[in-house]
Amino acid sequence: MDKIWANSGDSHLVEPDDLFTKSLPPSLAARMPRSVKDDDGAWETLYVDGQEFRRRMPRGGGANLRDSEGRTVFERAPGANDMKRRIQDLDQEGIWAELVYPSIGIWTSSIRDPELLAAGCRAINDWAIEFQRFSPRYVPTATIPLLTVESAVAEIERAADLGFKAAYFPVAPPLGIDDWNKELWEPVWASLHETGLVLGYHIGTEPHEADGFHGAYFRGRGGALMNYMETTYGGQRAVTKMVAAGVFDRHPNLKVIVSEGGATWAPFVADRLDEAYRQHASSVRPKLERLPSEYIYENVYASFQHDRSAIGAVTAMGWQNVCWGSDYPHLEGTYGHTQKTLHELFDGVDDVTRRRVTLGSFAELFPHVPPVPHVA
Ligand code: MN
Repeated sequence: MDKIWANSGDSHLVEPDDLFTKSLPPSLAARMPRSVKDDDGAWETLYVDGQEFRRRMPRGGGANLRDSEGRTVFERAPGANDMKRRIQDLDQEGIWAELVYPSIGIWTSSIRDPELLAAGCRAINDWAIEFQRFSPRYVPTATIPLLTVESAVAEIERAADLGFKAAYFPVAPPLGIDDWNKELWEPVWASLHETGLVLGYHIGTEPHEADGFHGAYFRGRGGALMNYMETTYGGQRAVTKMVAAGVFDRHPNLKVIVSEGGATWAPFVADRLDEAYRQHASSVRPKLERLPSEYIYENVYASFQHDRSAIGAVTAMGWQNVCWGSDYPHLEGTYGHTQKTLHELFDGVDDVTRRRVTLGSFAELFPHVPPVPHVA
């Protein structure tokens, strides 16, 4: 079986347990996100800045999980915590470069204290950039403190100086703060535009009401499927708000990727927005310089891992900005069966499309990453 090499638009770093105790004063470190798993491994409790969130672990979450072919897989791939071993995992799986989001750092969106958040983000980013310094195959995202615009702009500029090429945002702003379409955020979009950082929204990252259950929007019959779907919409909403508010008119080189939320939604949202823009023209404000779909086709990218319909977004719908993503090392991801997944997706797909989705879209976003050796 030929090895298919692919870049990943959706991977994760796993922060070491002592990251915050080593880098922050004890009074701050104690309030940063921390996960404690139940003895049976089925649930975990997240402690964040004096709040507690309960979350069911994916697929049981314990040791000795089995994949679809009965092989043992690990909750965390062997290289998840180690930048050197991680390269071996990537080579084995056929993943060349990866856009890497935080893991526990995703919970920073539930912090309520701006100073704690800013200090925590600096600690995460100072640690994460070491991966990129070790190998350009790692493209870490800078975690940005969004409780104040000033701290967000300061960390975007600091991250760019450190060498970051991408910034991670949750799909919705912190609770009680203006939404992405509001003027408040204009300096943030401007600083992303000026620094050239790609904006990465990872789905399922909405901030939570205090002491809630993570991701449990619905209960009862059908809840698991309904909740999974609900986490998907956040990225689409974030993109819709930016397009509708004219963010890409004012910042035409700003690039956005929505990670883990599938790909076929983008042509669909583009059609809906164009229809609204034409049919409801008298109430549309601000007027845009171009049709909404043009921003989605030029400024917006998305990553998927398993979706059968994702290739059709390119070949049938003409949307070129589809990236594959491994979600390494998470259980939803492809670790242990990446080549099988890639062959199922791409066998029989023409070379131009395959190359675009596996390597080209990512390379367009991150041109500093060297190409895969020996792959023409
Ligand atoms: Mn992911």
